Amino acid sequence: MRSHLKHFINGEWVESTGSNTIDVINPATEEVIGQISDGTTEDLDKAVAAARAAFPSFSQTTKEERIQLLNRIADEYEKRKSDIVEAITQELGSPLSMSEKSHYKMGLGHFRQAAKELESFEFTERRGNTLIRKEAIGVSGLITPWNFPTNQTSTKLASAFAAGSTVVLKPSELTPFAAIILAEVFQAAGLPKGVFNLVNGFGEVVGNGISSHPDIDFVSFTGSGAVGQKISENAAKTIKKVALELGGKSPLIILEDYDMKKAAKIAVSNVVFNSGQVCTAATRTLVPKSKHDEFIEAVKEVLPDFRVGDPQDSKSFLGPLVSEKQYHRVQGYIEKGLEEGATLIAGGTGKPEGLEKGYFVKPTVFTNVQNSMVIAQEEIFGPVMSILAYENLNEAIEIANDTIYGLAGYVIGEDVETVEKVASSIRAGRIVVNGAAQDFSAPFGGYKQSGIGREWGDYGIEEYLEIKSVVGMPS
Ligand code: NAD
Repeated sequence: MRSHLKHFINGEWVESTGSNTIDVINPATEEVIGQISDGTTEDLDKAVAAARAAFPSFSQTTKEERIQLLNRIADEYEKRKSDIVEAITQELGSPLSMSEKSHYKMGLGHFRQAAKELESFEFTERRGNTLIRKEAIGVSGLITPWNFPTNQTSTKLASAFAAGSTVVLKPSELTPFAAIILAEVFQAAGLPKGVFNLVNGFGEVVGNGISSHPDIDFVSFTGSGAVGQKISENAAKTIKKVALELGGKSPLIILEDYDMKKAAKIAVSNVVFNSGQVCTAATRTLVPKSKHDEFIEAVKEVLPDFRVGDPQDSKSFLGPLVSEKQYHRVQGYIEKGLEEGATLIAGGTGKPEGLEKGYFVKPTVFTNVQNSMVIAQEEIFGPVMSILAYENLNEAIEIANDTIYGLAGYVIGEDVETVEKVASSIRAGRIVVNGAAQDFSAPFGGYKQSGIGREWGDYGIEEYLEIKSVVGMPS
């Protein structure tokens, strides 16, 4: 049992002012594995005061000092590898290999990348007699979801520290343990007191408190569109800058000239990765009509390679969904797909055989999906693939863009000119070609209702900066 009932405020672990607690459940076993505090607005006020007090000196640290700090954090993070991997597997249900190769590595990648970006980052620019200065934005409130417990926290934290901003973090109440380890990492790395503050609790109290707090200058949020809207409304009352990383329903366009077996492998892995709980998941697969049947056969062939199973088993590629609520939500969408008349190719409702305990779902594939169907329009957040056949490239692009979202898009093809045409026609913040690997320097964020702002690399650091003009500056 992990019992973490304290918040991390002003460089130390402090008791909560409230007495309520929140149970944390292992989604693979449905057992309670620990508890955190149900934080209060008083806890939040203390954390904000600590961040505010630390801001004047932290914001004045030199770029070199912050590069060293970020590298020390990355070094300490590496020392905690096995703890981070174990915590994420327990709280999220991610298979051990995924927790290591994806979750752990992404967290590390953001701290190392921020240090690297700072080396060439210019905080001042001269235009004749005008000096343009980029200054830390102030106190940042960070609210993160459960699906990538170290990636989403680390990208925000690395950028904030690189910019010289102090922070208050509220991680998801479903996956709080990875963030608690991060606090320990920062302590070990010698982060000055008050620069990082962690308050656990529910969104309605601590999250809501962050978005409306008069002493918080900027809110960076990742999660659902509905909560993103609430945060924007609250933040508007104190004219707070807001960055939102919300949902997606990303299209993956397969071109006619590509090998369908290779395409199927890339497409399926993009849907089932992290049990489909990925905002950039390529859940709408667009296939040329002429290749549809060949593609379906290839999908059926590769699907068993992505095994659902016990997260502790090294052969598992997918673990359970994070919670019972998410399990029922995904079941509802699979039922909806059947009701709407899509053709089920694999998976379906219910739990996979032998996995009756835990929130496991079957990787599910539908074809003959129309883009107007609910399963093609709404974010399912589970391993459910919708295949849509297209007649020509213009139709494919039209379908791809017929969504309220614009977080990501995918192209699979050989011909460079056509790939480029498709990549430039999809209205989304990140296009991935032929299953390319992550690039931590590439800006990440959405068009349309997928969000506002960018994270990762130098663009991520920019979010935590204000711009000042000093006009008439003698040279
Ligand atoms: P959510 O938006 O409810 O929660 C995300 C974070 O916001 C959590 O830390 C939560 O405690 C906090 N929060 C909740 N209510 C709040 C409020 N009123 N004010 C401030 N903060 C608040 O997301 P969820 O319940 O974890 O997941 C629901 C859906 O959101 C998912 O099914 C999925 O569609 C989407 N989602 C998207 C992403 C993404 O990366 N884009 C990540 C997770 C979830």
